[in-house]
Amino acid sequence: MARYQCPDCSYVYDEEKGEAHEGFPPHTPWAQVPDDWACPDCAVRDKPDFIPLGMSGIGGVAA
Ligand SMILES: [Zn+2]
Repeated sequence: MARYQCPDCSYVYDEEKGEAHEGFPPHTPWAQVPDDWACPDCAVRDKPDFIPLGMSGIGGVAA
């Protein structure tokens, strides 16, 4: 499971956690997130702007 971070704010989409408030249950792959999906925190950046962080576990978060 990979993670993707908004370049404008600190929001991170984690495939393992999903984003229930946006209608993406846990383990929703990034590929299933629509391209016009906007960051739920700042609503400025869209999915294509997000930066891949790599696999979960990097950055001190337990996998
Ligand atoms: Zn954002």
